Amino acid sequence: MHKGKLLLGAHMSIAGGLSEALIRGSSINCTAIQIFTKSNRQWAPKEPTKEEIDLFIKMKKETGITDIIAHASYLINMGSPDPDIHRKSVIAATKELKVCEDLGISFLVIHPGAYTTSTPEQAIIAIAQGIEKILNHVPGSSMILLETMAGQGTTIGSTFKELASIRELISDNHRVGICLDTCHVFAAGYDIATEIGYTSLWKDFDRIIGLSHLKAFHLNDSKKECGSHVDRHEDIGKGEIGLEGFRLLMNDERFFSLPKIVETPKADLLDDVKNMATLKKLLSEETKQKLS
Ligand SMILES: [Zn+2]
Ligand SMILES: [Zn+2]
Repeated sequence: MHKGKLLLGAHMSIAGGLSEALIRGSSINCTAIQIFTKSNRQWAPKEPTKEEIDLFIKMKKETGITDIIAHASYLINMGSPDPDIHRKSVIAATKELKVCEDLGISFLVIHPGAYTTSTPEQAIIAIAQGIEKILNHVPGSSMILLETMAGQGTTIGSTFKELASIRELISDNHRVGICLDTCHVFAAGYDIATEIGYTSLWKDFDRIIGLSHLKAFHLNDSKKECGSHVDRHEDIGKGEIGLEGFRLLMNDERFFSLPKIVETPKADLLDDVKNMATLKKLLSEETKQKLS
């Protein structure tokens, strides 16, 4: 069942404080946003103060933006065969999930990791063990979402099978979901520019992972062709996916209730405005009625 509201937004900067992201998002009519819980170059966030938490929760109410996703640090690699990197990654992700709990953020999106000098099988086990530890350390309701990846280098998560394997190795996995990135699945080989490719993606997703585990979207066009395994985001409609792929997704009733976040190249907020407007223009009259 959908909530009857389009949940569309973009990644927002937390410069000036966590709650500033909500103010920025609200200023361009986001109904969902994504944030980093800390500066990009740090391993782990510092715990927000009581004042920061209170202000964030107050601004959530004031802006009406309740669908918020946190994106974990890019430094995290729980799939690393290096025990020190694995351990640091688990600690950092644990702190990030704790911040999500404190702020009432439903989802923490994490790149599964890369196997570097080991094997995909070993990395998948390491990632699952890491997530199990994180969830045990942070009780609550915030979920970890594994992001679908383009498959650059030794990255794990470019196949639904790998993502499903990670979930299946976690004994209590009800707080482990998936965030699907349109650029990444396209680069990984699903030609969502066409209806045939779009349909086959969802058939595979449902069969291998299960549609109920999909919790959020990153909406990005792709600079590189389908199957390139290269992760280069492009403005919506200007890349190899093009408008038709996004038209199919924006009007797919199964996903009306899921937050959709734009992560397209950005100089300032106007770029987000432009990409969100492009997506809104793709909504059919029927969809608009259902979402009003
Ligand atoms: Zn990501
Ligand atoms: Zn990407």
